[in-house]
Amino acid sequence: MTDHKPETWFHEAGSDHCPHGAEPDRHSDAWNTWAEHHTGTPQDIFICLDAPIGPCCSACSEEFDEPISWEHCTQRTTAAPAVTEEPGR
Ligand SMILES: [Zn+2]
Ligand SMILES: [Zn+2]
Repeated sequence: MTDHKPETWFHEAGSDHCPHGAEPDRHSDAWNTWAEHHTGTPQDIFICLDAPIGPCCSACSEEFDEPISWEHCTQRTTAAPAVTEEPGR
């Protein structure tokens, strides 16, 4: 079971949203500088810490295989309860 909760997601390293460009040779000095702005993910891709997407739901994103923003989570548990009419008194 995966929890539906907001997590800050980032664009993929080397994508259009990443100002640093593609990953350099891992044995070069440039990689160390590059690595300071990026981090690996369990999905084995690097993400750009300078290019946040915003809060996403990892459970939904896994289900749809693309970043699903927290706003569009199908199972939000922290959403405000629907406004119910006050019983008349
Ligand atoms: Zn970057
Ligand atoms: Zn969700």
